[in-house]
Amino acid sequence: MSPNPRWHRALLLLVLLLPPVPAGAQRVARPAAPPPIRSAPVSNLRYDVTFDSATAAERTIKVAVSFDVTGPGPVLLSLPAWTPGAYEITNFARWVSDFSPTGGGKPLEWDKLDYDTWRIQPSGARSVSIGFDFRADSLDNAMAWSRPDFAFFNGTNLFFYPEGRGFDFPATVRVHTQDGWLVETGMPRGPQPGSYRDTNYHDLVDRPFLIGRMDVDSNQVEGRWTRLATYPAGTLTGPARSLLWDQIGKVIPAMAAVYQETPWSDYSVFALFTPEQSGGSALEHANSHLGIYQPQFIGTPLLASITAHEIFHAWNVKRLRPADLWPYRYDQPQETTWLWVSEGITDYYADLALVRGGVVDSMVFLNLTADKIGEVEDAPPTALEDASLSTWIGPTDGTRYLYYPKGSLAGFMLDVLIRDASDNRHSLDDVMQALYRGDYKKGRGFTPADWWSTVSRMAGGRSFVDFYQKYVNGREPYPWDSILPLAGLRLVTDTIREPRVGIATSQDSTGAIVVAHVQPGSVAEQAGLRQGDRLLELGDVEVLDPKFGDAFRSRFGRSEGDSLPIKVRRGTDTLTLNGVVRLVERTETRIEPDPGATPKAARIRSGIFRGR
Ligand SMILES: [Zn+2]
Repeated sequence: MSPNPRWHRALLLLVLLLPPVPAGAQRVARPAAPPPIRSAPVSNLRYDVTFDSATAAERTIKVAVSFDVTGPGPVLLSLPAWTPGAYEITNFARWVSDFSPTGGGKPLEWDKLDYDTWRIQPSGARSVSIGFDFRADSLDNAMAWSRPDFAFFNGTNLFFYPEGRGFDFPATVRVHTQDGWLVETGMPRGPQPGSYRDTNYHDLVDRPFLIGRMDVDSNQVEGRWTRLATYPAGTLTGPARSLLWDQIGKVIPAMAAVYQETPWSDYSVFALFTPEQSGGSALEHANSHLGIYQPQFIGTPLLASITAHEIFHAWNVKRLRPADLWPYRYDQPQETTWLWVSEGITDYYADLALVRGGVVDSMVFLNLTADKIGEVEDAPPTALEDASLSTWIGPTDGTRYLYYPKGSLAGFMLDVLIRDASDNRHSLDDVMQALYRGDYKKGRGFTPADWWSTVSRMAGGRSFVDFYQKYVNGREPYPWDSILPLAGLRLVTDTIREPRVGIATSQDSTGAIVVAHVQPGSVAEQAGLRQGDRLLELGDVEVLDPKFGDAFRSRFGRSEGDSLPIKVRRGTDTLTLNGVVRLVERTETRIEPDPGATPKAARIRSGIFRGR
């Protein structure tokens, strides 16, 4: 493995070899850390957060952080550079303004020690309060965003921590808002009305807050209170809300069965719907998740799938976590080769939970799996470990998030191989449960040796050295021809005739589908479509409909030569151009149950779909 690009200019690199695989990749040590900087000791941290229609008008959250100073020296306060789960450096200090510390009724001197650390001179003051504004205009589930009647923020954005003093300090949060607006968070209630309290910083910054007008209701799922808060009010209501509740009620038991435990006392599903979002994205926490979706996601299996993925994270990554990420640190990237387990295998279990819970049937699972195989085949050959490490720098070759589909497929292969080796007596479920009990419950992250020895034990002692070298640390294509028959499945390649218009599109910041390229000689060119046109409908099918592809193909898949109206917005005009349907052949790979499967393979197939 080559050195991490972030550090390639460092002259002194120590190569540490971990024990022979499958204990893990060879890692490159970082340059020695500079001596730690340390704040004067502080205690009794309180964060007062104000958001109402007045601050909303400025898209600002007003914050005051107050504390007692219990020792000499300057107070050094930092803001995180990232939010765990969103593996990218954002530097929340960028959104801070009007930083003004006071102590003993007087303004205190301050400057910056580095770009995310403030240095305050208490000058003898025993209690200090610092006011600042935080700009809430980033529509990103790791950040802070506001509308005239609503805001959400993450603790990583606003909650300063004292440098070099560890993260085991309790803190209180008080939210000040206006009558009729709600406050939703997974944080436990504090002693005073409107207050919340956590015992340590890791938990404190793992509970996003929603403030404003929204729809909220609760239900018991697996014997625990589960809350659903959605914005804007009136958006997720009626049958669509009931459907999401039904899906949540089905996937949580299917996931809890993997670990034989529901780890939270309460869980909150936070969902925002706005046309400003293209697609859907959510971020996991230990007892909540925050999703932001384009409104077209309402009522679709996609919303259920993302919801299931984030809830599974409550076990896998928020609790059971690679040792590289235990504990979290907030000031720099925390690289790991294990996102294929933390993200990819979470995705595998999200698909499984939908089947095992009865939200979708097994063919949907097989189609999703085939889609992932196609996605991996279309990307440059990339090792799972490398994709995981590189996500922090956002590679531009299409592999930035490859550890999701490819990690999910690696999980599927491991599941099949363990079930095959144990005649379906053991599975990947047992691996996840054993590590959860053996590592998370003992207060630590799992090591490469923990992972691979558990996999091997569940497979009756079978070695996974070869598997690791080829498919985790290596770039070899996955051996579907030998894996799928073990689970009574087979790959089928179909030749499909489908309508092709001949354009490439992209989505702009408003969510509109914009024509990026018109292929010469295509239907689109003959109809007069131009680069920059915003595409509204193809043959009366709305292009923003999440089911557009299927709807368009099923409607025009047999209509060679029929007329195809293309509705676009060009500047301020709405035009309907006249195209024709032209069918093009393409091959598509899918997975189907093999009717000739052996009884053992059929048992494995059914074990995967039904759980243990
Ligand atoms: Zn995830």
